[in-house]
Parts: sequence; C-alpha cells; structure tokens
Amino acid sequence: MIDSHIHCDSRSFEDYRKMAVSGVSTAITCAYYPYKFTNSTTLLDHFRRIREFEKERALKNGLKLEVALGIHPSNIIDNYVPVFDELKKLIHNKEIIAIGEIGIDSGGAEEEKFFKNQLLLADEEKFKAIVHTPRKNKLETLKRIKEIVLENINPKLVVIDHINLNVIAEVVDENFQLGITVQPEKMDVSEAIAIFKNYGCDKKMLNSDVSYMRSDILSVPKTANEMKIQGFKEKDIEKVSSSNAKEFFSI
Ligand SMILES: [Zn+2]
Repeated sequence: MIDSHIHCDSRSFEDYRKMAVSGVSTAITCAYYPYKFTNSTTLLDHFRRIREFEKERALKNGLKLEVALGIHPSNIIDNYVPVFDELKKLIHNKEIIAIGEIGIDSGGAEEEKFFKNQLLLADEEKFKAIVHTPRKNKLETLKRIKEIVLENINPKLVVIDHINLNVIAEVVDENFQLGITVQPEKMDVSEAIAIFKNYGCDKKMLNSDVSYMRSDILSVPKTANEMKIQGFKEKDIEKVSSSNAKEFFSI
C-alpha cells in the first residue's frame, strides 16, 4: 500500500515499523513544520532532514519514503529566493516527486502569492503539486484554491488533498486527483468509504496525513480492510490504497 501524504519527521522509529508491518510499503512525505521558521536556512535544513535523515530512518524499518517539498502556507518566510532555487535544483535532479504541500490555510494575499508562485513553478517544470485544504472555512477556501489552480497550472498535475464529503462535489468533476485523508481530526473510515461508494475510486488516493497532531498511522490499511469487509472489488481497493498514487506520481 501507499500512504499518499504523511509528515514523517513528526513520527517515531516504531511508527515507521508499524506502518511497514501493516502493509504500507511506500509513503509520500511532505514538507511542513508546526511553527513558523525565522529564515530560509531553517526551512532548507528541514528539507535536507526529510531527504537524507528521514529516508534512511524509514528504510531501516522497511518503509520507502518518497519526498514532496515546498513552502506550506504556515511556513512562509521572507527570504524565499534560496528556497525556490533549491526546489528547482531538486526537481531537475529528480530528488523529489512533487512540490508540496502547498496551498491556502488561513488565507490572505501573502499565502495566495506563495501558493500561486509554487504552482507556476510546477507547471513550468511539468511537475506534480500536492495542495493542502484547511479545516476551517473549507468549502470557501477550496473554491478559491480551485480558481487559483485552474488559472496557474495544468490541473492534471495537481492533487487537491483533505477532501471530505461536504466539499467533494466542488472538485470531483475536475481533472485533479483527490487526496482522501483519514485522520481522527479530519475524517473517519466510514466517511472515506461513503466517498468511494458515492463517487467511485478513480482519481482518489488515501492517506493518513500523520503529523504532530492526533493521527492514525494505520488509517490506510484500516480503510482498505474495511472496504474488503464491505465487499468492494479488489481492484477498487487497490486503486485508492496504491495504484492511483503509483501511477500519478510515477513511483
Ligand atoms: Zn499534511
């Protein structure tokens, strides 16, 4: 299985092991830190930690990490130029698989500027982008995110993440992939299953978004198992828990 969105640096050695023994072979880990950085050097060190230290730590437990890096709306910094230079270098060297996670959280001109510029970079490089949607004002913010994405990047390059039953109608007919996050703070297994029953299993990928907050490292295997119990076809379970992410990110 593939967990399509986690924050590996927030979890323990033992959590990596539990994911691997529960059948998660690969996880896509995104850049995000729970407090604001004071400068670009700290953010670049965060990137390096994920690419080097965390990849190695996961491998020691049988888990492969694929890396997405970018400037999360909560991690906006003033001197961003070195970060954009680093992202370009990492894209060209194929050291990351996507820009992410990026998006809008509280909203405002500054967040929108960083979001738009990173989408433009992804579009220019024909590179994938993982887009965060917030918990608060979700539908309103999603509508704005959709507008900005459609104006600045080929939508086929984009995953809009943390989609739930309340907002899915807004994006389900677009060309985006949709991230379905099963997490105690966001959505339970039964809601994810209702999404697959009502909207099908194409262009959707499960993830746990495990972070520094209350999370469930086993939410992808638990959802896949519940789908099996409820009689979903093997092929559909595989799509949302593995093959959709595998094909989209070419991993
Ligand atoms: Zn996240």
